[in-house]
Amino acid sequence: MPLHHHYDAIVVGTGGIGSAALYQLAKRGRRVLGLDRFPAAHDRGSSHGQTRLIRRAYFEHPDYVPLLLRAYELWRELEQTVGRTLLVESGLVIGGPPASEVLKGVRTSAAIHNLLIEEMSPQSATHRWAGLRLPAEWDAIYEPQAGYLFVEECVRAHIEAAARAGAEIRYGVSVLHWQTDRNGGAGMMAGRGVTLQTDRDTFTCDRLVLCPGPWAEGLLQLPSLKLTVLRKSLFWYATRTAAQSPRASYAAGRFPCFAFDAPEGFFYGFPQLDDRGIKIAEHTGGQPVADPLTLDSSLNTAEQQRVEQMLARHLPGISSSCTDHAACMYTMSQDSHFAVGRHPAYPAVALAAGFSGHGFKFASVIGEILAELATQCLDTAPAAIKFLSPDRFESAGVS
Ligand SMILES: Cc1cc2nc3c(=O)[nH]c(=O)nc-3n(C[C@H](O)[C@H](O)[C@H](O)COP(=O)(O)OP(=O)(O)OC[C@H]3O[C@@H](n4cnc5c(N)ncnc54)[C@H](O)[C@@H]3O)c2cc1C
Repeated sequence: MPLHHHYDAIVVGTGGIGSAALYQLAKRGRRVLGLDRFPAAHDRGSSHGQTRLIRRAYFEHPDYVPLLLRAYELWRELEQTVGRTLLVESGLVIGGPPASEVLKGVRTSAAIHNLLIEEMSPQSATHRWAGLRLPAEWDAIYEPQAGYLFVEECVRAHIEAAARAGAEIRYGVSVLHWQTDRNGGAGMMAGRGVTLQTDRDTFTCDRLVLCPGPWAEGLLQLPSLKLTVLRKSLFWYATRTAAQSPRASYAAGRFPCFAFDAPEGFFYGFPQLDDRGIKIAEHTGGQPVADPLTLDSSLNTAEQQRVEQMLARHLPGISSSCTDHAACMYTMSQDSHFAVGRHPAYPAVALAAGFSGHGFKFASVIGEILAELATQCLDTAPAAIKFLSPDRFESAGVS
């Protein structure tokens, strides 16, 4: 095998985001290589655990909504390309006290972007979904077009579509370091743009796309972006038998996704998709992870107790028998918003990092944007990602 390989673009990390970038680059006819330490749809990073929520009335910030509208379109296109269902619009009901910032944020995004949401009383929510209980003093909002993505299936679909469009993918390769030529990689005529050292070979490319998930901090060469990796637990619980809980159904197709912005924390979950029952997790909290390569995946009983308290309070037809659990990682940026764009110091390098526990639903559209960044003039960037600019922390100083 030759020691030196040159590509139009190399994507480092073929997880949730990188697999989408790889597909979009291959679709544009680029000679593209994807490199990853682990195989497709592995369970060592941030893109595993059966499902991810997708919704449009985005409480985190209304500027995400145009991206979400495009994300939905691209997920549907990907379904057509691979011939499999990836996204289910099950609806999502969010409950919380009237002062909830989450509920306020949902209403703001829905109003600005004219999105369909339904305000509900806790009683009408229980009437509609017998397995749900919300305190009488809470508000509830239902978003009918929200739902879930089959997370590993989405990654596999992007990889499959990328390979079909001509992408090369190498697993079991760890990228150790990258460097650009003297012009920050901008001088493609003068040199090879970007050189990557891996634990196997050396690769060069005109454009580099970095999607390293929880491993981003060591690879980005962007000290102003401080990332904190958090360990997050996922739990599955069986439903009670029909005799124990006759009216409650948590089955997919009948029960929606749910979220509780409770005083104790923000919890969310999914209807029953297999015999493990419903899945529930806490979005708040999480233990810092020192080394993502040695993530502890054992059962965290303190976190388990917290989700079981939520189940007892809000989903009375769910038993307290935990049927499965998993651990996954959030990569938090300083402001919990993503960093997507050109590297401030190296224009031939595009990066996508700091997805802060809410990035998967955007993978399809971020992949498209990364492909645009890696194929277009080095001084342009789509307006839709301006608010996510990776250089926004530079003025805060580097400590
Ligand atoms: C429990 C949990 C629940 C979540 N719920 C939601 C949700 O409901 N909705 C939502 O939208 N988002 C959700 N998220 C967030 C979302 O899943 C992540 O933002 C998204 O998956 C991040 O994808 P990524 O591509 O950045 O990381 P990953 O999928 O982890 O991909 C990074 C890849 O880079 C590779 N890599 C890194 N460094 C190197 C290197 N040096 N050499 C070679 N390979 C390398 C890794 O092996 C990995 O495959 C959740 C996350 C978790 C953990």
